[in-house]
Amino acid sequence: MQKLILIKYGELTTKKDNRNLFINMLTNNINNSLLNINHKIIKNRVRMFIEVDENDLNVVIEKLKKIFGIYSIVICEKVDNNIDDIGAKVVSILKNMQFKTFKVETNRSDKTFPMNSLEISRKIGAYVLKNINCSVDVHNPEVLVSLELREDATYIYLNEIKASGGYPVGVQGKGILMLSGGIDSPVAGYLAMKRGITVNGLYFESPPHTSLQAKEKVIKLSTVLNEYSGNFKLHVVPFTKLQEEIYKNVPDDYVITIMRRMMYRIAEGYAKKKGFKVIVNGESVGQVASQTLSSMMAINSVTNFPVIRPVCCLDKLEIIDIAKKINTYETSILPYEDCCTIFVPKHPVINPVIQKCIDFEQRLDYKELVEECINNIEVINVNTLSKNDLL
Ligand code: ATP
Ligand code: MG
Repeated sequence: MQKLILIKYGELTTKKDNRNLFINMLTNNINNSLLNINHKIIKNRVRMFIEVDENDLNVVIEKLKKIFGIYSIVICEKVDNNIDDIGAKVVSILKNMQFKTFKVETNRSDKTFPMNSLEISRKIGAYVLKNINCSVDVHNPEVLVSLELREDATYIYLNEIKASGGYPVGVQGKGILMLSGGIDSPVAGYLAMKRGITVNGLYFESPPHTSLQAKEKVIKLSTVLNEYSGNFKLHVVPFTKLQEEIYKNVPDDYVITIMRRMMYRIAEGYAKKKGFKVIVNGESVGQVASQTLSSMMAINSVTNFPVIRPVCCLDKLEIIDIAKKINTYETSILPYEDCCTIFVPKHPVINPVIQKCIDFEQRLDYKELVEECINNIEVINVNTLSKNDLL
């Protein structure tokens, strides 16, 4: 049997001018996500409906919950705009349910219908009371029956399933996410996607100092992020040579600061080369020595490319909550080392002096090394990975 799912749009309802772009992008993203599932999308100006087979319903709902631009998902029944048909359908839906109190709420956009919303709710309420042993509670009902009377038909539903909200991924162009294996950067990527940015990952690896497992962990995180956007690509920077040069030439306490400056230079160079419009980073103010305001200033001063830091003002616990909700947490806490954790100095500088950074950097031929990193980036298309490639 076919089931009808009603999609309520998220923030796009407030963006009148871009409405078509938003709806088309959302339709695209839904089609991509439901690629292997039989479905039919029917859309109008205010709502979208998806018809699917009853057997696929649960899988489809889980997928839809992850698609940005959808505010809520409603499984509904469709009947003709006829008060007796509506009443009979509502009774048939409620008949097998256990409840004592209910309320009917009506939203009527078909203004030619001869009754107003209140009259319709009362009439349908009376149908229910006549057929089922229960009572009306307008303040705190156990079951809320929602009716939407549109020109084409009436849609009946009980519960709204909350989805992710935000803008459809893709409406804002591309951003490059500095993606480590930690907790923060996947969350930053998720939040950037929620604003409609097509996010790709940029991972700095330093083999043999970092292991294959560390890289696989980042690939696994990319596959989780891919569920929210589709077509997620991971760009892997061969960072070993540059990192070794830094360790050879820079005093211990400045190593992390200089390393981060190099990461931003590489991210900017690559973003310009590949048409990314923004760098996304998982830094959070005060979290570690390299994220004090002074450190962030010294690190950020190498670029004037736009950088967004979606988790910069969140507590660690708030970030962890999101990581758990979006399913990246369990992977993020796997114990594999990162290029930033392998050579952590005992006392990293908390208030780096920009001039010192510049002086230390002159000891190495970094421009050429940065260029070499950018030119040798490996691209992994997460969509085409098989399950065996993962941890
Ligand atoms: P944690 O949850 O352990 O803090 P993290 O990913 O935030 O993990 P940090 O050491 O706090 O790691 O680094 C700050 C930010 O710098 C990261 O969020 C990420 O955006 C970027 N970064 C750090 N290491 C890498 C790396 N190896 N590849 C790509 N980006 C990195
Ligand atoms: Mg962090």
